[in-house]
Amino acid sequence: MKRLTGMLVFGGVVVAVVLAYNTWLFCWGRCTLENLTRLSLPGGLLLAGNGIALAVLLFLKARPPVLPRCRCGAFIEADWRFCGHCGSNLDKS
Ligand SMILES: [Zn+2]
Repeated sequence: MKRLTGMLVFGGVVVAVVLAYNTWLFCWGRCTLENLTRLSLPGGLLLAGNGIALAVLLFLKARPPVLPRCRCGAFIEADWRFCGHCGSNLDKS
């Protein structure tokens, strides 16, 4: 949870810096509104990197936790002695 908050803060800082940088450039007349809608190479790479990072994060979060499974494929609790689905003996000792 703390890591997620840190990532959100980091993402917010990145967005704020990009916005500030673009606003600064715009105010100095180095680019026009039309340029802001177009992605430069660093901007495109940054966006692609963010997209990949987001995809990885979503993939990791969407992956179900690793649970023990019975031979029949049913999910079981670690301390179960019998499978509730097929009734096979799960006692390892
Ligand atoms: Zn089973």
